[in-house]
Amino acid sequence: MIISIVGTGYVGLVTGACLASRGHVVRCVDVSPERVSLIRSGKAPFYEPGLERLLCEGLAAGRLSATIDLAAAMTGSELSLIAVGTPANGEEPDLSYLEAATIQIGAALRASDRYHVVAVKSTVVPGTTRTTVKSLIQASSGLAPGEFGLCMNPEFLREGSAVEDFLNPDRIVIGEADAKSGKAMEVLYESFDCAKLHVGLEEAELTKYASNSLLSALISFSNELAALCEATPGAYVETVLNALHLDHRLSPIREGARVVPEILTYLRAGIGFGGSCLPKDVNALRSYGRRKGVMTPLLDAVMATNTRRPEQVVRIMEGAMGGLSGRTVALLGLAFKAGTDDLRSSPALAVLPILKAHGASVRACDPFISRDAAAGLGLDHFCAGNLESTLENADAALLTTADPLFVKADWAQMAARMRSAVLIDGRNALRKVRLPASIRYYPIGQGASFLEAGSAAD
Ligand code: NAD
Repeated sequence: MIISIVGTGYVGLVTGACLASRGHVVRCVDVSPERVSLIRSGKAPFYEPGLERLLCEGLAAGRLSATIDLAAAMTGSELSLIAVGTPANGEEPDLSYLEAATIQIGAALRASDRYHVVAVKSTVVPGTTRTTVKSLIQASSGLAPGEFGLCMNPEFLREGSAVEDFLNPDRIVIGEADAKSGKAMEVLYESFDCAKLHVGLEEAELTKYASNSLLSALISFSNELAALCEATPGAYVETVLNALHLDHRLSPIREGARVVPEILTYLRAGIGFGGSCLPKDVNALRSYGRRKGVMTPLLDAVMATNTRRPEQVVRIMEGAMGGLSGRTVALLGLAFKAGTDDLRSSPALAVLPILKAHGASVRACDPFISRDAAAGLGLDHFCAGNLESTLENADAALLTTADPLFVKADWAQMAARMRSAVLIDGRNALRKVRLPASIRYYPIGQGASFLEAGSAAD
């Protein structure tokens, strides 16, 4: 198929490179000329394992191209995927990029005389595709319903493993306005060997929110349990969660071996969820519920627990050190998770102002973050991927991502560089690592008398 993809962010570019690798002719469109020229030179505008190799292969084979000219990209193409951002605007998704892209697509369709399918890949609340997208295409193209195809095809890839996730999906959800539109999506995904679910447009939109809400709920459940353990001397959340994981309904035994589903990685304590999707999507579903007159007390609590978590983690450090004023704290990790350079809604960035408000001087280390990206975050010092300099004369360190740079560090050497070797493990990623006796190690979710009632977090 010849297809155009509007938006070359994590979703659009990964989708484009992967579909080109499956033999489609893919024309990527973005409003940013810098992005387009980077892509044309075989460089990804963000870090994603395996992406640049696919980009270069697609460009060399002539199956992948990039342009800022949407009308030119759509000439002769059979299908357009909209993959522009729908960032948070308060608790609602900001639809301005989606609306602008849709109007441009409609205008390009006015000049075309062939049947074309428009599929929304961006995450949007139920009804957006059938109302906003459909009516904008009709108005800008002059076409009547049925003269163009309309689908909603949510994306489930995870940053850090986006190429792998896209090429090996669990399922492909095809929300279709009619069977003819859905048929085009079947052709697009013909080479993918997985369940393809043909559903209504609103069901497709809701499936994406349901998926991210479930993951967020599991994380908040684990973090609430961690906070309860922290206020209970003698209790450790890892022990409690490990016992929970052994429930056969969570990890069944098949042919004598325990199957450990990946979903259990979300039933782990941490410093809270972040990134460009989970907080934004849970909030969008809550505000959709309010508009529909449906209460969402569970989702409200998921967000409230998440918002509290950074403060609770700082309390551990404060308690362990007897105060943070005038102390130098090293944040190990700035991105929202290891293996990505995405800072959007990163929990490390939620911890940072709390540490500063307590009077600490904060420096950070993250091998994936550039100096340009770190500038303006409010750090006192940024050491990029240099862990040694980050820890030099630091009073305490807080591990915020489970990056191998931190997990595999020589902690005896690192401790020797610190003024006082206090290490708070915000991911419990070092719990199985043999640490030197010189380190005062505090995993999260471990009861301590300084966190008991009266002094306990919130
Ligand atoms: P992003 O912000 O990384 O990229 C969006 C791109 O769209 C940018 O390059 C921007 O320049 C471009 N753009 C904006 N308006 C445009 C227009 N009119 N024409 C052409 N290009 C335009 O976004 P993302 O992270 O890829 O997310 C895209 C959508 O997919 C969002 O709705 C998001 O919620 C959803 N999603 C994201 C992920 C993820 O892990 N990032 C996963 C699943 C779904």
